Amino acid sequence: MRDDWLRRSVKMLTRWQFTVDLAVTRLFRRSRGNIPYRLAGSCNRCGACCETPAIQVHRLLYHSDIFRRTFLRWQNVVNGFTLIEEDRGDHTFVFHCTHYDPEAKGCDSYSSRPGMCRDYPKFLLEAANPVFPDTCGFRPVSRNAKRLRDALASLDLTPEQREKLDKGLNIRDDD
Ligand code: SF4
Ligand code: SF4
Repeated sequence: MRDDWLRRSVKMLTRWQFTVDLAVTRLFRRSRGNIPYRLAGSCNRCGACCETPAIQVHRLLYHSDIFRRTFLRWQNVVNGFTLIEEDRGDHTFVFHCTHYDPEAKGCDSYSSRPGMCRDYPKFLLEAANPVFPDTCGFRPVSRNAKRLRDALASLDLTPEQREKLDKGLNIRDDD
């Protein structure tokens, strides 16, 4: 269901808070060298990231009944996310997004989409081994890509082996 003016206003306010939070956190992580990849490629509008949006939360929120219920209610009422499954191991909630149209692969409230949708897939770059959806037009590139490519250049490898290594080590950099 398309966002009405009230939802749009609430989402705009939370988006500002999300953006400031994210900027501060990333600045801190970057200053400590904790973001090992950069983003390459572009969005091809495959829609994969809208099929089952997921949010990892702090374990205190995950295990606290009142915070958990409030969080899920907020996601449902404000963002249109309904819970479909969860991963207890890494405190992640997986949702169905009621704004997503799987036929058109589009969002019915694109201009008021949450901050996490705008940021996708940058947060994946913070993982030790980022996994992007197969159809995604973006990809991670290691910040050491050039050094690793130079080191591999002297090895006697078949084109297939080289391609496999480029992909596995996230060192392809042809943008
Ligand atoms: S709100 Fe829009 S952009 Fe975000 S997951 Fe849903 S359909 Fe995708
Ligand atoms: S999965 Fe990647 S390419 Fe597909 S819509 Fe999301 S960001 Fe764009």
